[in-house]
Order: sequence, then structure tokens, then C-alpha cells
Amino acid sequence: MPGIVIVGAQWGDEGKGKVTDLLAAGADAIVRFQGGNNAGHTIVRDGELFKFHLIPSGILYPEKACVIGNGVVLDPRILLEEIEGLKRRGIDVGNLRISANAHLIMPYHVLLDTAGEVKLGKLSIGTTRRGIGPCYADKALRLGIRVQDLLDEKILRKKILAALEPKQQALRELSVQRRKLRKEAGEGARQGGDPSVADAPDPRLDLHTMTEEFAGYGHRLEPHIADTSRLCWNLLDGGGTVLFEGAQATLLDLDHGTYPFVTSSNPIAGAACVGAGVGPTDIDEVWGVAKAYATRVGAGPFPTELLDSVGRQMLEAGHEFGTTTGRERRCGWMDLVALRYAVRLNRMSALAVTKLDVLSGIDPLRVAVRYRSREGAVFDSFPYHQSILHSAQPEYEELPGFEADLSACRSEADLPPQARAYLDFVAGFVGVPIRLVGVGPGRDQVVWMGDEPRLRAA
Ligand code: GDP
Repeated sequence: MPGIVIVGAQWGDEGKGKVTDLLAAGADAIVRFQGGNNAGHTIVRDGELFKFHLIPSGILYPEKACVIGNGVVLDPRILLEEIEGLKRRGIDVGNLRISANAHLIMPYHVLLDTAGEVKLGKLSIGTTRRGIGPCYADKALRLGIRVQDLLDEKILRKKILAALEPKQQALRELSVQRRKLRKEAGEGARQGGDPSVADAPDPRLDLHTMTEEFAGYGHRLEPHIADTSRLCWNLLDGGGTVLFEGAQATLLDLDHGTYPFVTSSNPIAGAACVGAGVGPTDIDEVWGVAKAYATRVGAGPFPTELLDSVGRQMLEAGHEFGTTTGRERRCGWMDLVALRYAVRLNRMSALAVTKLDVLSGIDPLRVAVRYRSREGAVFDSFPYHQSILHSAQPEYEELPGFEADLSACRSEADLPPQARAYLDFVAGFVGVPIRLVGVGPGRDQVVWMGDEPRLRAA
């Protein structure tokens, strides 16, 4: 099975990092295909905690190719910080490869992201304000700067100039807003009331400074820049195994998620082909990762959200705080209507259910099996209309809970019967086998259901 995609089956933070880390043991390459440094994977290896925002989780296997695909947008400053951080911890990053076609997040993208969110006020999407949306927008507008542009200062300058020009208006508005905010905060007074200080042009947006700065990043990243689509082709063609690691998740997909409360790329399995440069027939398996409950960060519909003590218990027991932002995650029951939708969109072949341990002590357990609209209509499948989803009331199947601490379970037989019944119900309802169950954050805290997959390295 040479091509395997791993996707988030819910609203993100499902523990994809750990599942990728486990499956990566038998792979030749691990490829990220979309998103930017708004992703956050946490992996615990031998008691040591690793957090990745941009670099694929596969970096912990120095002998394997670890690839940032063309579908990723990357902020070179953040990438270099992540590389340096790993080097300081003794991790060899020599096999990191970055697609020459990946797009770069520029300082103006970050400023525009923040300005956009501030402008939307209460309607804000809850982006991480890292410039990812504006960067993808520039890519679609054909105004993006790509990794390969870093290698030619003349071209880089020309492209930055072309990209900056149409943004002047937006940035001027931004500077007016900034001035207003500074005035409100009394910053002008603190600076001796000198308006020229507050009005000084942002040095990060100076064409010359930006070109120099980014050309410098190009020199440092050059050894890692490659034709990563070809790299995948060569491995797959030779019978090797390539893991395609999704960031964010299905319900945050730009096309199929709860738009506009979505991410600005496509995290579903189909996007692995575009974002890595491989063909659909290169994909043999699609693993969906879902928590045994549900969480969501930021705004947007979340039918099974719990605002009570059970939700609080999930938040605390599951340490539901964002890796990248530290934000508290909204928690709720597992939503099988939404999960079945994710199964369909990704044509999932296997499920990994993480954090089952977090549910111990909660009795009864509930899973949403249908929605009911305000008008009383029943929805067995995920409604396409946002207004319905916003007001949908979930209807639950109640299942017996379990008290036992699952953290030491290592085989199916170790799991309490109620936990097994819960997993059986989920798998039966969505029609996909559960192959892996997480019972704690540690790498070994998993239960393989059936055989552990044997992957063939080339
Ligand atoms: P990702 O972005 O999908 O990789 O998810 P995150 O890394 O943001 O969140 C997953 C968090 O849950 C991390 O802190 C993991 O260490 C932790 N985790 C993963 N699997 C399990 C599990 O089975 N049980 C528990 N308790 N924690 C887990």
C-alpha cells in the first residue's frame, strides 16, 4: 500500500500528529500537502514533547524524507525557527525537502489577516492571524511569491513589487485603523505626542528591506528546496510508501466545511494529490482521525457542543488547548452525522479514534445520530444549508460509559466492554473499521484493532 493519506475527520486537533508518527515508522516519506503554520501537531516521544506548526511530524525519523508540499503556504521565518529549534534538540533535519512551488507568507499577508479579522468584528472567522488566508488569496490571484523566487533576488524584488501594489489601498486603511487604535490607547501621548512616530511607515513593508530579508531566507533554505512531486513519484514508482499528512480537518475544508468558518485550503484526502503533485491512483488508503468526542476552535456551528460540566470535564481531561494559539477548545459529544459526512468526502478506508481515555468517568455517553431542524425536519445526513446547521438540534444515542482508566490498555481485550461497545457502535454507524484507538498521549498508548499495518519501505 504505497500511498496513504491521513486526514482529520472532525474540526481538527484530533491527534493526527500521533497517528502520522505511528504510521510513519513504515513509510519512506511523510508529506504535508496543505495549510500553513496554523496547524499544530503535538507528539510525545519517549516522554519528550514536540510541537510542530509547519514541519511534518515525520521529521522525528531522520532517515525518511520529510516533505513540505507545493500545497502548503509557508512563512520562512517560522520555518527557520522550527528548523533551528529541532537542531538545538539534536534532531537531524537533513532530509527535509521543501517544494519549490510552495507559496510564501509575506509580512503584508500577516497584516492583512489581522486587519480583516478586526474589520469583521463580531463576525470574525477566528483565524490564527498568521497570514494564511491572504497568502492563498494571492496564490489564486496569481500574485503569490513562491519558494523558488527566493533564489533570484531580481525576480523576488519584481514579484514583491507587483504583489504590494494592489495592496496599497488595503494597507493604507490598515494604517488609518492602527492610528485610531493607537490614539484610543493613548500611545501617541506616551511617545510624547509626536504624530510622526505613529505615522512612520511600517519598516516590514519596505520593498528593499523585504527583498533583502527574504533573499537571506532563500540562502538558508536552499539546501532543502526541491522538486518534491518528483521525489514522491520516484518513491511511489519504486514501490515505496508515502504518507500524506493533512492539517486541520474535513469540516474546516474550504469547499466542504462550514463555510465561511473554515480554513483557507482543502484538508480532505483529494487535496493530497494536488498539494503534493501525485495522481489519484497513487492513493491506496485514507485514514481518518477522530476523537472519541468532538472539539472545535474558534467560531462556527458545532451542533453537539456542551456548555455544561461534561464539556468542562472533556476540556480538562483532554487538555483541550490549541497547540498554536493556546485557545480553549469548545467540547462536545461525538457527532456521527458529521463523521459519516467526513467518511464520504474522504472515502475513508480506516478510522483512528483518539482520546478514548478522556471519556472514562462520563456515564452515560452520547453520540449524535441525526439532527432535527427548528421546523422539526429530521436530517440523517449532514445538511448542505448553513442556516439549518446553525440551528440544528442533535438527537443522541445513549451508550453506557466506563469508569476504568484506559491509559494502560494495549490490546482490544484490555478495553472495558462498554468502551468496545462504544467503538463498535461508531464503526457500525459510519461503516468504516476502527484500526487504531488512542488511550493516552504517549506513542505507545494505543490499541491496534486487528493487525498492526505492515508498510513496506522501498
Ligand atoms: P493534531 O493537530 O490533529 O495532531 O492534534 P493536536 O496535536 O493538536 O492534539 C492532539 C493532542 O492530544 C496532543 O496533545 C496529543 O499528545 C494528545 N493525544 C493524542 N492522542 C491521544 C490519546 O489517545 N489520548 C490522550 N489523552 N491524548 C492524546
